[in-house]
Amino acid sequence: MMHLNLFTQRLHFWRYALVILVSVICVTGVLRMVELVSSASAHLSLAKGVEYQIPANNPDIQQVRQSRADEWLVEQSDLLSFGMDNQVYWFRTTLPALEKNGDWLLELDYGLLDDIQLWIDQGDQNLAFYHTGDTLPFAQRPVLHEKFIFPLPDSDQPLTLYIRVKTDGALKLPMYIWRSDKFAVFNGEHNIVMGLFFGFITAMALSNFFFFITSRSLSFLVYSGYAISLGLTLMSLHGLGYKYLWPDNTWLQGRSIAIFANLTMLCATQFSVYMLNVASFSPITDKILRWLTGFFGFMTLAALIVPYNLFIRITLLCLIITVVFIYCVAIIRSIRGDRIARLYTLAWTTLLASGFIASLENLNLVDINFNSQYLLMLGGSIETLLLALVLAMSYTQQREDKLQAQQKALEQEIQLREAREETLAVQEEAQHDLEYKVQERTLELEIALRELHEVNRELEEKNTQDALTGIRNRRHFDKRYLAEVRRSRREQTPLTVAMLDIDYFKKINDTEGHLTGDECIRHVAQLIRQAVKRPTDDVCRYGGEEFAILLPNTERSGAEQLLESIRSSIEQTPVIVGGKELHVTVSIGYSADVVALKAPDDYLIRAADAALYDAKNAGRNRIAWQIAAPYIAQESS
Ligand code: GH3
Ligand code: MG
Ligand code: MG
Repeated sequence: MMHLNLFTQRLHFWRYALVILVSVICVTGVLRMVELVSSASAHLSLAKGVEYQIPANNPDIQQVRQSRADEWLVEQSDLLSFGMDNQVYWFRTTLPALEKNGDWLLELDYGLLDDIQLWIDQGDQNLAFYHTGDTLPFAQRPVLHEKFIFPLPDSDQPLTLYIRVKTDGALKLPMYIWRSDKFAVFNGEHNIVMGLFFGFITAMALSNFFFFITSRSLSFLVYSGYAISLGLTLMSLHGLGYKYLWPDNTWLQGRSIAIFANLTMLCATQFSVYMLNVASFSPITDKILRWLTGFFGFMTLAALIVPYNLFIRITLLCLIITVVFIYCVAIIRSIRGDRIARLYTLAWTTLLASGFIASLENLNLVDINFNSQYLLMLGGSIETLLLALVLAMSYTQQREDKLQAQQKALEQEIQLREAREETLAVQEEAQHDLEYKVQERTLELEIALRELHEVNRELEEKNTQDALTGIRNRRHFDKRYLAEVRRSRREQTPLTVAMLDIDYFKKINDTEGHLTGDECIRHVAQLIRQAVKRPTDDVCRYGGEEFAILLPNTERSGAEQLLESIRSSIEQTPVIVGGKELHVTVSIGYSADVVALKAPDDYLIRAADAALYDAKNAGRNRIAWQIAAPYIAQESS
């Protein structure tokens, strides 16, 4: 982190160092050029002592030549400047005797004069006459130069100049006498400065226009428009527009400054809207600035129609008010700590300061060692340069802001997603918990159910168990009998039912006692159970000393053997109670059948019962069989 900080600090340092270095090189270069031009201007300035008059009637040159001495006013200052005055001015001055063969030139160093007529007299003799001006095509100029240049006749006698001037804008008449060789040198230097300046402005305008094309940020386009219109305004002021761009269009020449100055202001106000970011601190100021942009747009269009003389005054007034307003806004923004506004203020300061000093120099109130027009261009260049820097900074800052906003949005989105995932996880966990609990409960319930089932089964078993013998009881037999009858009917398998009764049991009870009787019952039950082998066979205590035996899937012959073996094993196995051997016998009646479809459920029992009755009657201790069919007939009849 420390490392990175140090790195950015160094980067900042080098960036600022580079900006300062480039600025110093530019300014030194421009100053050196200006110095060169200034040193080359070896010329004679005419102002103090020049006579002038503003005649009310419209005299011709003859009348002016003959006018009385008191009709002429004499200029006392070093400046021939009359402000906005569209009256006809006449000037007269007598040049000192000039060196012969010097190729002398007269320069009127103000390219915006509308109509100029110049007579050059020597004594009473007129040597030359020129008629030129802004309202005449450029090609009519005696010398095709952006300023008004007149060749002076070759004479070693004093020459008198009569100049008639009429113009719609400001009337200034800076007059110089040049040797043509000196003028050529000066002109060369001057053109380089001009070329550099306009080249610089064009380069800035073009590069920023390309920035606009690639970034699609309107501020670059507005800056580009600003640079172009500032360049065109200055070109118009210097007469270069007329010379190079619209030499035949006197209409445009008369309005170019008004049009381009308003266009410059339109771009400047719009640029301020973008750069000073006023909307965020004062919506009213923002509204005023936008309103001003619209106003200058309107003024640009109005410049095409409204007469120049009136219009240029309104434009100048609006321009001054607007510039002061924007300047104040920029200063307020700077004081509040806006980095870009500070640089913006500095840019405007250079232009305003150079404009202010140039005005003072124009009015001869200060004396600087180079021409004020260059000072204004220098101010304009530095301003244009600084504004480009402002634009670059603002663009970078906007991009960084945007990037930061994007980053923030991204972070918020990530946070949101994380929160959502967390909620989802909590939900999932809750669901999981719930499922687990449900599972747990289900398991508990299942166990409880199984236990209940177990208890039920035990209860059922107890319910169906005979307490005395431990074998199944009558309740169980009834159910089991019904089930087996149905199975036999369904599967058409034979079923044997046997009824067994202990013989003369009353007697045992009577002679040996009931407890011994009970013991006998248990003994018989034990023996029957031992004899019955198949798991499907069932032995039940039917009641008292009677037993019922169910032999599913057993035919009469098989049953006979088994029952006989039971009978004989009981006969041969005595029961020992209290050391005393007791012999018991049993009688068994049985019946077997594949249960017919229409047979009633109890017909096999009935048959077996009847067979038991037969066995008893036949003398006991035997088995007897009865066919079950009569019990069907008995039922159905
Ligand atoms: P038979 O040969 O004709 O069967 O003569 P029996 O004396 O066995 O006559 P019966 O079957 O009618 O008599 C059953 C007797 O068994 C009646 C009753 O006193 C006795 N008895 C019934 N249940 C029990 C019991 O649970 N324990 C005892 N000790 N005696 C019982
Ligand atoms: Mg009995
Ligand atoms: Mg009996």
